[in-house]
Amino acid sequence: MVAGVLVELSNKNIDKIFDYNVPKNLEDKMKIGIRVEVPFGRQTLDGFVLEIKDFSDIELKDILSIKDHDIILNNELLQLGKALSKEYLATLISCYQVMLPKALKAKINSKNNIIFDTFYRLNNVNITKEKFNDSQRRIVDCCLEKECVSREELKAISLSSLNTLLKRKILVEEKREHYRLTYSDSKLSKKELTIDQKKVVEEVINTNDSVYLLYGVTGSGKTEVYMELIEEQLKLGKGCIVLVPEISLTPQMVHRFQERFGKSIAALHSALSDGEKYDEWRRIARGEASIVIGARSAIFAPITNIGVIIVDEEHSESYKQSDANPRYHAVDVAIMRSRYHHCKVILGSATPRLESFARAEKGNYHLLKLLNRVNGKPLPKVTVVDLNKEVGKNFGHFSNALISAINSRLERKEQIILLLNRRGYSPFITCRNCGHTIKCPNCDITLTYHKSSNTLRCHYCGYAEKKLVKCPNCGEESIHDLGCGTEKIEEELHKLIDARILRMDYDTTSRKGSHQKMIEAFKNHEYDILLGTQIVAKGLDFSLVTLVGVINADTSLNLPDFRSSENTFSLLNQVAGRAGRSEHSGEVIIQTYNPNHYAIRYTQEQDYLKFYKYEMEIRKKLKYPPYFYLTFIRISGKDLEFISLEAAKIKKSIEKNLNNIIVLGPTSCTLFKINNIFRLGILIKYKRCDNLKLFLDKILSHYKSKSNIKIDIDFNPSQML
Ligand code: ADP
Ligand code: ZN
Repeated sequence: MVAGVLVELSNKNIDKIFDYNVPKNLEDKMKIGIRVEVPFGRQTLDGFVLEIKDFSDIELKDILSIKDHDIILNNELLQLGKALSKEYLATLISCYQVMLPKALKAKINSKNNIIFDTFYRLNNVNITKEKFNDSQRRIVDCCLEKECVSREELKAISLSSLNTLLKRKILVEEKREHYRLTYSDSKLSKKELTIDQKKVVEEVINTNDSVYLLYGVTGSGKTEVYMELIEEQLKLGKGCIVLVPEISLTPQMVHRFQERFGKSIAALHSALSDGEKYDEWRRIARGEASIVIGARSAIFAPITNIGVIIVDEEHSESYKQSDANPRYHAVDVAIMRSRYHHCKVILGSATPRLESFARAEKGNYHLLKLLNRVNGKPLPKVTVVDLNKEVGKNFGHFSNALISAINSRLERKEQIILLLNRRGYSPFITCRNCGHTIKCPNCDITLTYHKSSNTLRCHYCGYAEKKLVKCPNCGEESIHDLGCGTEKIEEELHKLIDARILRMDYDTTSRKGSHQKMIEAFKNHEYDILLGTQIVAKGLDFSLVTLVGVINADTSLNLPDFRSSENTFSLLNQVAGRAGRSEHSGEVIIQTYNPNHYAIRYTQEQDYLKFYKYEMEIRKKLKYPPYFYLTFIRISGKDLEFISLEAAKIKKSIEKNLNNIIVLGPTSCTLFKINNIFRLGILIKYKRCDNLKLFLDKILSHYKSKSNIKIDIDFNPSQML
């Protein structure tokens, strides 16, 4: 027997299946989709078995061992990987690796760290003929009563007696897998759906479309609708996938699902350890958990009979993998999987992507609407504060209006969320004397000041240096922190008001479990103000929050990205949606230097449809999605002159070979130099281009073997950095 094994060749971007001989003792267990260990040159590699044949004409090396008892890639995932590889022009191995938790990837020295618990049971001996002392007797009785008893329990009686009984072969050992995470039973906290929610649920059940777009304002009860649709599928014996953006995969959200569905859920998120992820994956693959709730890569969860796939906050950029191959969008993968399973895909958002809403308008997606909040209250009132008029009379970063609104909530013992819009913004260090900014020596990026360690750090390559006193350019002691990180805002706020402030950003939440503790503490009203970056904008549901303040709406508005208005509109609407979610009505105050910008104006009106129409006109004029498709090609390498020449050649070749397209570039990428690697970009726009993939595949092949230049291709990119 011969097995064709796919291995990962140290990032060479090459796929090849190698044949190996299957030793007789492994033949029974050899199956397509399992992971094996093979000799490769002088190394030992892991690989996936993709083919099984009877024999080979040439002499082959032996497979060394089988890594897992279970099939890792079932038939559907095997096919899906092939489809992804074609769709995104990525290697097959990268497509399989992306589907799996770290413990199951085909890597050198991968460890399968399954935890086992040890149990004991009585052996097949006639115990009436045996003699026991007291503690031995108690152990035997215990095993008689319960049949199978944990090591802990018996150890507590007497470890030496336990060992003796084992030696005498009175007891036998049994190993059982132990999952690291446990879920409690459901408390059946099912809510009676409102009439609007019921209508939506029935519309899904009674129609036969494949993709639905649920456009529902914040607080309209979308989650409750999802849960009802899931329950419907569970009754049919099917499983479900619920995708949420990583940032809103809060314990709160998981808790809501757990309360309703108890042990049948598995939650996959980045706060889990590798071992925990592996355990969750096995529970899913074995059908022990039928509802998977997780971030982007949970779309690959090995559920074998999917009944519905839900993508909450479908506008979230986190659903697109931008930084590595395959550069997939989870919604596209959801649709691919739904075809295999004949199931529906539900996309939900208060601010759908323009692409999605346009598809719904065209009838490609079935549009569902929830236009009112569950609590019957109107959406929170939004006030825009023009910071241009505040110059000189405000308190640091806070306008009069915002401070007095904060004070009035504090008096009423209500809570406040403050958003520091960090996107596209980094606190930077400049010399006041000569204007010199301190940059990373490896990357063309300004360094960020970290107060707690008094260092300047590069967020891209990890470079760090002690904070300077003197400017390296002019020698004056005028180095100044121009940033307004959350730390600094917190300091400012403490000077202005007397309140309990909870700061939440990536620095304070990186420790495991700290995010959850913070959310609970805020919920218990141990704090008055929750101050944070984007992390506070999504998915949180606190009944006492009646004021949301946005300290700086502009930072994300001025990014060199055609989606900057859309992203800002959606962020502001999300965070505004945190206010007034229960009986108290909410208010939102947005501080900005651009009060007349349409993204701000339509946020004030809380009118997605108006924003959509306006933005669509702009996209049409500028030939951007959804009117045109985009493909981004990044050319990178150490030698700028060389890659510039190659980039020009690529552009020429594109223009010669492809019709009906617009080519922009090559230009320097926004992130021009990272880790001493220069980056150039070419952007292709088109409505339809049949031979695009074929052509780009040729370009990729041409450069594959060259070590001094790297080509990345991103179809429908979400960021072009
Ligand atoms: P969305 O996801 O649309 O922002 P949620 O599903 O989080 O909205 O619902 C908002 C709030 O309303 C939550 O606190 C939720 O528990 C509550 N809620 C939703 N549906 C109902 C219902 N049918 N009856 C009572 N409360 C509900
Ligand atoms: Zn750097």
